[in-house]
Amino acid sequence: MLAIRGGELTKKKSFPKWPISGEEEKRFALEVIESGNWWRMSGDKVKRFEKEFAEFLGVKNCLAVANGTQAIELALAGLGLQKDDEVIVSAFTFISTFNAPIYANVKPIPVDVDEETFCMIPETFERAITPNTKAVIPVHMAGHMCDMKKISEIARKHGLKVIEDAAHAHGAKYQGKPVGYYSDAATFSFQNGKIMTCGEGGAVVTNNDELYERLFLLHGVGRPENDKGYHHVVLGNNSRMSEIQAALLLGQLQRVKEQNQTRIKNAKILDDLLSKINGIKPQGERCDVTVNTHYMYMFYYDKQEFHNCSREKFVEMLNAEGIPAFISYPLLDETEFFINKDFRGYIEGDYSKEQLECPNAQKIAENVVWLPHYTLLGDSEDMAEIAEAIKKIQIEI
Ligand SMILES: *Cc1c(COP(=O)(O)O)cnc(C)c1O
Repeated sequence: MLAIRGGELTKKKSFPKWPISGEEEKRFALEVIESGNWWRMSGDKVKRFEKEFAEFLGVKNCLAVANGTQAIELALAGLGLQKDDEVIVSAFTFISTFNAPIYANVKPIPVDVDEETFCMIPETFERAITPNTKAVIPVHMAGHMCDMKKISEIARKHGLKVIEDAAHAHGAKYQGKPVGYYSDAATFSFQNGKIMTCGEGGAVVTNNDELYERLFLLHGVGRPENDKGYHHVVLGNNSRMSEIQAALLLGQLQRVKEQNQTRIKNAKILDDLLSKINGIKPQGERCDVTVNTHYMYMFYYDKQEFHNCSREKFVEMLNAEGIPAFISYPLLDETEFFINKDFRGYIEGDYSKEQLECPNAQKIAENVVWLPHYTLLGDSEDMAEIAEAIKKIQIEI
């Protein structure tokens, strides 16, 4: 009997809990607390994290910031975008990829994504470019990298800046190249659910030294690093990361590489198991992806193969069986603030119907279910139980 009707749960042992921490996080955090240096201007943890995270990724500069949304806002400002500029953004993404440009007075224009990989389609991006377009933000959906070589080539041809939204992609690679290699800047999030976390946090990485200097000013109310007076040389907000956040991240950084490998291994097992179930189709992977970080395990759910049971009800039943699952992100134009044109003057906010037409993203938004990444941190038995739960629902519904 289905667990939702009082039957036994399919999931016998529990998934690893998230976040995962240990002695490292405790030791670094205690060092910060006892040192009395709790902000980056007097401590050394943020600096050390920036250096180690840049090394881990394989990029030159990293600026740690308060969160991933502000990281995108800063990257846009640092690259010189301003009022009346437009930025092309992956249509299927978390809302921050749209909100951050709006706060930077830049109008986000969604472009459709590939229906298999859920990533930006280079050709569709190129067709969407207008004289107002100044930048592009591809999103590495669930850790699957976009085709950055093609996207950056198109961007260069049209004189556009490239910002990778790598909030899901800590350590991702494609054609052997890391996040940050083909772009002007890439942004990360360390929010609680992300694959490295300090509760809230973010980073901008770049191989461009001048951009890094400018970002540093912008993220600290416009003050140079060693300023002892009140010298505000550019207009800047405060997006600084605290030493406690960096202490936790120094610990997380020691785990992420191995966790990425575990998720890759388990995602393959789960792909094989779920592909055999009628009505379930996992997110695809381009063959040139080297490291897919699998921030989410996403799959299409076809309700016709489940007696027309709605996706919401399916997710509820899966949760009852002991499998954490969620429905995917909505489209920008389905959010309440967008429908109400609640832009508060940041952008003019007129969109044509054609500008918002993204059929693949719509299909994904309406049909996809995802499992959080920690479900992929278990073992092959955990993967088997996920498949069992779905099969049980299909049979007994
Ligand atoms: C989480 C996330 C962000 C924003 O990160 P916060 O740290 O929560 O501000 C941006 N883009 C994507 C795709 C995300 O998933």
